[in-house]
Amino acid sequence: MAERPFIPQMEPWFGLEEKAEINRYLDEGGWFTEFKRTSQFERELAEYTGAKHCVVVNNGTVSLTLAALAVGLQPGDEVIVPNYTMIATPNSVKMLGCVPVFVDVEPETLCLDAALVEGAITPRTKAVMLVSANGRAPRAGIAVFERLCRERGLALIEDAAQSLGSRFPDGRHCGLAGEIGSFSFSAPKVISTGQGGALVTNSDVMAARLRKLKDFGRAGGGNDLHDSVGYNFKFTELQACVGLAQMKKLAWRVERKRDIWRRYQQGLAGIPGVALFAQDLAITTPWFIDTLVTRREELMASLKAGNVGSRPMYPPINRQQAYHVSGDHPVSERVGREGLWLPSAAQLSDNDIDGICAAIRRFYE
Ligand SMILES: *Cc1c(COP(=O)(O)O)cnc(C)c1O
Repeated sequence: MAERPFIPQMEPWFGLEEKAEINRYLDEGGWFTEFKRTSQFERELAEYTGAKHCVVVNNGTVSLTLAALAVGLQPGDEVIVPNYTMIATPNSVKMLGCVPVFVDVEPETLCLDAALVEGAITPRTKAVMLVSANGRAPRAGIAVFERLCRERGLALIEDAAQSLGSRFPDGRHCGLAGEIGSFSFSAPKVISTGQGGALVTNSDVMAARLRKLKDFGRAGGGNDLHDSVGYNFKFTELQACVGLAQMKKLAWRVERKRDIWRRYQQGLAGIPGVALFAQDLAITTPWFIDTLVTRREELMASLKAGNVGSRPMYPPINRQQAYHVSGDHPVSERVGREGLWLPSAAQLSDNDIDGICAAIRRFYE
């Protein structure tokens, strides 16, 4: 058998459509900075998610920082974040001088555990950042978080970076339960603009604040009058060209990601060393194939020898050198030891997936 090319754990997917959009823009000429195509991209994202407003920014980390500023977080405020997430979630508020407080996640969904969140609230707590891990909603129900935050006077910010194409059981798109929701278009995400982020909200007030914050706090379009402090977190038309082309592929990708997950589920069935996290495919889009495995490092080495990439899932954040705070978080700690992402790119063929599953089966037999 000919040696097959390396299958990466993830890779972005751009094609002729992106190239054509960029070429069309270059032929028209423009200033490259955000303008009509960016507005169009925002409109399409708002329509897709059902949000009243969408504001794009340069990535899915500063988007969270802007969301934190827009809801009024101040230095020293405590923000509850999951101990299992991409480190950008806590870093985004650390940048403002807020204090991220790490709370463990539910074993089934890897989303914040509502009971533990309630126990972690102090008089200094001002916000909860809920991450819909791999498109999943917390099992406790998003309504529990909305009620808790309302009752305790906390802002609910949703880090939905991994959740484009995923909805809550009540039909709302992820990102729309909190005051503000955030998406990322970094290279590995469901759709990508290389770098990029988007904020969604149904609040006119929040949307206006976000637009000002990302444009130097300008009081009006194009002038140099500033009644508040803002920054520069703007997008570019080139990214919007790519984003618009990617949006045309989103519906297909959502279905493909679901098919990929189903095929892995069938292919890995009955192997005692591997467990997929359950995923409700009627409403969610598995961004990555996340699993718990035994003998993780050996399995990774064995897959790599067969030209298959994989990647350990996020380590528990409180144990990362960057934070290093004590705490007992058994679920995120277990994921740190046993969590493994299998190849998850939308470009995977059924044949690729069958080969990966067969290699995993051989490893455990
Ligand atoms: C990717 C990701 C981010 C960061 O987004 P960038 O666009 O890379 O800054 C934040 N949070 C979560 C949960 C992510 O998966």
